Amino acid sequence: MSCFITWCEEDSEHTIHRRYLSSLVVSQGRGIVGVSIVSVDHGDLVNVELTASARLVDPVIVMITSAEARGVGRALLEAAGQADKKG
Ligand SMILES: [Zn+2]
Repeated sequence: MSCFITWCEEDSEHTIHRRYLSSLVVSQGRGIVGVSIVSVDHGDLVNVELTASARLVDPVIVMITSAEARGVGRALLEAAGQADKKG
């Protein structure tokens, strides 16, 4: 069953439309960070969904606006740069 929203990749019955963009293995295989775009209102408003999963704990899922996602991206780049300098 395909969704009426062309970019949505969900194929079973769903209330959140989602396109999976990245799934990155992190922390030496102990975690996965996923990035998707999602919409809960028929595609009129599209947000970014960040999922962090680790073994033995429930995943943490945060839905943020595109502007907030850019802020998170900048914060990650800044942190990575500082970590590289201190490592
Ligand atoms: Zn859908």
